[in-house]
Amino acid sequence: MAEMTKKIALDGPSGSGKSTLAKNLARHYGFVYIDTGALYRTIGLFVCERGIESTDVAGIISCLPDIKIEMKLENGGGAVYLGGRRIGDEIRTPIISKYASDVSKVPEVREFLLETQRAIARENNVIMDGRDIGTVILPDAQAKLFVFASAEARAKRRYAELLERGVETTYESVLADMQWRDANDSQREIAPAVPAKDAVMFDNSLMNIDEMVKNAIEIIDKVLF
Ligand code: C5P
Repeated sequence: MAEMTKKIALDGPSGSGKSTLAKNLARHYGFVYIDTGALYRTIGLFVCERGIESTDVAGIISCLPDIKIEMKLENGGGAVYLGGRRIGDEIRTPIISKYASDVSKVPEVREFLLETQRAIARENNVIMDGRDIGTVILPDAQAKLFVFASAEARAKRRYAELLERGVETTYESVLADMQWRDANDSQREIAPAVPAKDAVMFDNSLMNIDEMVKNAIEIIDKVLF
């Protein structure tokens, strides 16, 4: 029988520090890091490039047969390819954030991406970050953390990140965008960003990166080994 792989599920709202935490934990444990948001963003990019509105559900669904999305292992993480094209920072814009949030509400889109996510976790020890990893994608994950922080703490971090990348924006618009996406993500009927029953609630509003990583490792070590 194949040995069971180890799985860590990190769920939580936008900008909660999940991806920073996930990258650090992946390095610590030597696991593959999977950013599932990148998959939804890539679907959003495809729909946007087709000139279809983000809220046009029938239009979004009509794109799916033409979308060839792959996740390949590169430098310890999952790199996303769309029809053979390697996807990079073009999915990290405010427009694509909105597209990602909207397309991710469509059940057919979630179903479309389900197997891509599960397949990689069958073959590798993974740390996967998203919204419904602990509840839907990997309900059998040995460690589940629901990562969150106040909207203000998250907006501050995201704003600093965008500035560093040279994206022109204001703190107020980042905060507004964050609040809009939180509501859009948590009020939807399908796969809302809610914690799994067996998830550990991890509020990192008052933690710096080192504290966040150290605290998470303490929690995960207890259940993973
Ligand atoms: O995590 P990130 O902000 O990159 O995700 C982009 C969007 O994709 C989120 O706003 C969320 O609506 C959606 N998403 C999702 N399920 C996931 C990961 C992301 O619905 N597992």
